[in-house]
Amino acid sequence: SVPLSFFGGIGCASKNGVLVKGSNYLEALSHAQTVVMDKTGTLTEGKFHVTRQKAVEITPEEQLELAALAESASNHPIAQSLKEAYGKAIDTERVEDVQEIAGHGVSARVDGKQVLAGNAAYLEDAGLQPETPTEIGTAVHLAVNGVYAGYILIADTIKPDAAQAVQAFRQAGVSTVAMLTGDSESAAEAVGDTLQLDEVHAKCLPADKVQFMQAYRAKLAKGRTLVFVGDGMNDAPVLAQSDVGVAMGGLGSDAAIAAADLVILDDKPSKLGLAMHIAKKTMGIAR
Ligand code: ADP
Ligand code: MG
Repeated sequence: SVPLSFFGGIGCASKNGVLVKGSNYLEALSHAQTVVMDKTGTLTEGKFHVTRQKAVEITPEEQLELAALAESASNHPIAQSLKEAYGKAIDTERVEDVQEIAGHGVSARVDGKQVLAGNAAYLEDAGLQPETPTEIGTAVHLAVNGVYAGYILIADTIKPDAAQAVQAFRQAGVSTVAMLTGDSESAAEAVGDTLQLDEVHAKCLPADKVQFMQAYRAKLAKGRTLVFVGDGMNDAPVLAQSDVGVAMGGLGSDAAIAAADLVILDDKPSKLGLAMHIAKKTMGIAR
């Protein structure tokens, strides 16, 4: 039988905007040893702004338009941000044959031209040689009809409560706070340094994230647990590797919210710190 106080704990969490899908997750949370977090949309806002454009062979206006059109069918935070930066209504009749490759980017036919938009690895796989920007940020590289067309450098902001969240995890006894991201080393390290994370792994493909989770699991002490926190984009396989899978409710995909054990409705990572505190109190009462 489940002690009554568990319901008290779940109710308290829910009053604070954290949906807990079962008392077992509250118990698991109270024993967290390792918290693994996604970057984009989890520790950062997931709203990128353009910091610089390096257009090659085309004008910056054409470059941004092609990027926004190629990304028109995607709901990835990068795609949403490029559409916002473009700022004009998108005529979807101009876009055909859209393909999105998780952790890489998109390909589409725009006005009859073959457009690729994504990270350096994605363009390298297509036989192109993207330039490496010297500034910190996330470069969205473009190719038009097989010719490199430069990059759009975009930057995201760390959420105001992210540092407080990391501090709360440590107070709750978490010994490792790690970040896994598909983004560049420079963007990842900027966040890792600011938040003083224990470990940062950049340029992760979805399969790499699963492997890192398995490695973190192997390092758990007896009775301790592994928590993953993500925004939901492509996170379902990683959520499945955790004892407690947490999704950001506002930005997350419906699939991730369904797959998660805990949902943070207002996307504030510090709410997980609060949930840990509630979990510990609940366990104290339950025993
Ligand atoms: P994260 O781990 O930060 O959540 P993802 O795994 O979703 O990131 O994506 C990893 C990287 O793949 C992004 O930083 C970006 O370089 C590239 N990427 C993924 N989706 C897109 C897209 N729709 N447009 C452009 N680039 C993308
Ligand atoms: Mg993501």
